[in-house]
Order: sequence, then structure tokens, then C-alpha cells
Amino acid sequence: MTDPDRRLLERAYEKAAAHERISLDEGVALLERGDTHLLMGLAHKRRMHMHPDNVVTYIVERNINYTNSCVTFCRFCAFYRRPGHSEVYVLTNEQLREKIQETVDAGGIQILLQGGHHPDLQLSFYEEMLQFIKGEFPQINVHGFSAPEIEHIASVEKVSVKEVIERLRAAGLGTLPGAGGEMLVDRVRKIIAPLKTTTDNWIDVHRDAHALGMRSTATMMFGHAETVAERVVHLDEVRKLQDETGGFTAFILWTFQPDNTAMWRYTKLESHAYLRAAAVSRLYLDNVENLQASWVTQGPRVAEISLRGGVNDMGSTMMEENVVSAAGTTFCMNSEQIERSIRLCGFEPQRRNVLYEEVMA
Ligand code: SF4
Repeated sequence: MTDPDRRLLERAYEKAAAHERISLDEGVALLERGDTHLLMGLAHKRRMHMHPDNVVTYIVERNINYTNSCVTFCRFCAFYRRPGHSEVYVLTNEQLREKIQETVDAGGIQILLQGGHHPDLQLSFYEEMLQFIKGEFPQINVHGFSAPEIEHIASVEKVSVKEVIERLRAAGLGTLPGAGGEMLVDRVRKIIAPLKTTTDNWIDVHRDAHALGMRSTATMMFGHAETVAERVVHLDEVRKLQDETGGFTAFILWTFQPDNTAMWRYTKLESHAYLRAAAVSRLYLDNVENLQASWVTQGPRVAEISLRGGVNDMGSTMMEENVVSAAGTTFCMNSEQIERSIRLCGFEPQRRNVLYEEVMA
């Protein structure tokens, strides 16, 4: 390491320890060259400063993928089927009812509702789906439709993104998931998902949703075509929008799962890279309250370690997961297992809603 590099890293450590905002260059220095244990220790200190209670939260919810038909063909995706493929499905209301009833029976309060970019479904389809869900289960929060889905619906319907968000919200949409962010660097997006939304458009959808008073989450999928420095550029995009709107409730990062995808030649990142990125995310995103563990891709044991490296939330229970499991990763945890993991690490488990407010089991 050269002297200037060493000084930059030392300065980044000092600022992180003092809970000061770190710059892009300092964030890159930490992620590229920081000591893993030191990063995790600093991130844990920051997390305890932001959340002094000895609590780790989680939510009981279910993933529901209403269709796998998609015309966007992301190279990292093993879930979609081309329109006309024999395995294409669109869930019926009856199937939706059954899945949500199972969620409610398990104490669930939310569904994560997402699907492929179906070429033919009009905005009225999504409105009716939401109206049906909220009519049957008014207590359930629908955390649904990624930014690229919203953009796709707007293009099929030939209306603005804002109008789509307003109409979906009026039909019962509660909050927006951060999916589709992947890596907010257009150089990378062109390689992994050339037909999908751009960085600016992803940001704009969330900005529009926040302006309408909706909250959303931000995500990052890494470990593919990006450089380590570009991971920090992604964090910077999230931090900038959060400075502007304050609308993100949480940040969730996970590593790319290459099996069964067109990008199968990429090597899966090791847990070490995940833990480093989680720690730097905690330090860099000083304006995003919550950082979720990704036990779905990392497994419960690594998620437990991350609870001492900046993470304060165990995400959600998993009754069904179709996207990551299609890429060969099949970790699953119910609420008892999540609570056991949290206690093992010396924290008290606490159920929450989408706004991170405590809910009783
Ligand atoms: S990630 Fe989403 S948009 Fe991309 S191919 Fe898969 S289902 Fe379609």
C-alpha cells in the first residue's frame, strides 16, 4: 500500500469510529483494503449507536411471485420464463387467497408481491389483484412491485410512472421493495440486464414513490460484473436519494447466485466478501436506519455473524421463495428458527412491521 493509500484508509477508520460521514473514496478504501475484523467492529459500534436497544428485529411475511412470464431476460435470473413457454404461470385469485391465508395462519402481516415483466397484463390487472388482496385481507401490507416492474407497467399502459404508483397505491399497495436495483452503475447494468431499467430510472421511481408519501427499501446484488469500487458507488446512489427524501426504511444486500443463470461462469462470492460489504454498507449509509441480514443467500450461520458486523434486522421468515432458489440456493427459516438465531447471538428478537415498529406475536 502506498503512503497516500494508507493515510486515506486511516482517515476512513477514524471518521467511521467517530460516526462521521465517510466520502466515496474513503468508502472504497474501506471496502478494498480495510481489515475485516476492524470493519465489522466499527460497523457494530455504529449499529449499536443507531439502535442502542439489545434487539434484532424481523418480520413474518411471505414472498408471492404472481407471474414468471418476463420479456426482460436478465442474464442473472433463473426464475423467469419467456412468454409462450410451457411453464409460464399467472396466479389466480384463488391461489393468491390460499397463499395469503397460509401467511395469516402463520402470524404473517405482509406479503412481498413481485413478478416478471409480463408483456400483456394491463394496469387494471394489477389494480384488481391489489383490490382483491386488500378486500380479502385488509390487515396485510402489500410490499410490492419493484421499480423496474412499475416502469414496465407504465410502458405497457402508456402512462407515467407517477400515475402507475398513484393508481396502485389507491388499489391497496403499501410499500415498494428495492428489488431491481442490483448494481446502480449503468456500465454493469448493460452487462447483466441490458433490457432492464437504468440507474437514473430506478432512482426516479423511488423518488416518485417517496414524494407521494410511500416508503421503500433499497437493495444491492453484488459479486458479478462490478468492481469493488462500484459497490461503493451503488451505496452512494442510495445515500444521495436518502439525503433528499428520507424514504428508505432499510438496505438489503446479497451476493449473486449464478447457478442456472446465463451468468453461471461467475464464481459465487464467499461469505467473507458479504460480511465486509455489509459492514461498509452500515458505515456508509449513515442515513438509512436498518440493515437486513441476507440469510437466504448466506445461510443462517453467516447471518448470525453479520449481527455483530452492522446488521440489526433478520429480514423476513420464508415460506416460499422462487427467485434465489431457482438459482440453486435454498435456505429457509421460520420465526422460531430466526428467534433462536437472534438469541444465540445475545440479542432479543422483536417482531416488526414494514416501518420497523414493534408488533406482538
Ligand atoms: S429479474 Fe425480474 S425482470 Fe429480470 S428476467 Fe427475472 S423476472 Fe424478469
